[in-house]
Amino acid sequence: MDEIAPGVFVATAEKYTTTTTVVAGADGGCLLIDPAVTVADLAELAGWLSERGLRPVAGWSTHPHWDHLLWSAAFGEVPRYATPRAVAVVARELPGLVSGVRESAPGHDLSLFARVEPLLDREIDWAGPRAVVYAHNAHAPGHGAVLLPDAGVLIAGDMLSDLEIPLLDLDEADPFGGYREGLELLAAVPGVRLVVPGHGHVGDHAEFRRRVAADRGYLDATEADADPADPRLAEDWLRAEHARHRERRPRR
Ligand SMILES: [Zn+2]
Repeated sequence: MDEIAPGVFVATAEKYTTTTTVVAGADGGCLLIDPAVTVADLAELAGWLSERGLRPVAGWSTHPHWDHLLWSAAFGEVPRYATPRAVAVVARELPGLVSGVRESAPGHDLSLFARVEPLLDREIDWAGPRAVVYAHNAHAPGHGAVLLPDAGVLIAGDMLSDLEIPLLDLDEADPFGGYREGLELLAAVPGVRLVVPGHGHVGDHAEFRRRVAADRGYLDATEADADPADPRLAEDWLRAEHARHRERRPRR
């Protein structure tokens, strides 16, 4: 667990290099963002929280993919939020999401899985540092990044990774256009000193700018049917995703 800014902690799970973010608030309360990913990871996180005297008072799921909707009884029964569109997707796609957990991270208490309610405001209402949501539809519908303006930390969900190419939502009518809209929304977020991707490593401001440029470059090259020469295309599954993106590039 790394304290990347005062009161902001990031744990990185071995599986998929998945990050979990903890934001400390008033009176030992904390905001828990995307706790992940295995049963053992969540148990370890719960142990760390109690050692630190922290107890979740609210949760946030950045987007409706199974590895961002997990929870453990040890975190307590607290309001867990996502964007309204993400909550609608969860309701529609729950069986598939549950299958994802069963196949890839078995053993979770499924009665606690994906129990998110829609956040109707732009900010998460909790007794702690301001947490402002930036909602868009890149990667997944109703994706909600969270900016902690005081600390300058952007919790980006599955965007702006140093390990993963942009992963497009191919169920969307215009996957490239939708991704670009979300990417540009995040690129324009003010005051980002640190970026936390859902999978990968925390980056500073310069790294945030570099990742935005790398993601734009990937999209430009792929849309133009050119070789993106992206060093993140290092693993088979990412090359497979890239091949699927190429199939769906807009034909002009
Ligand atoms: Zn995802």
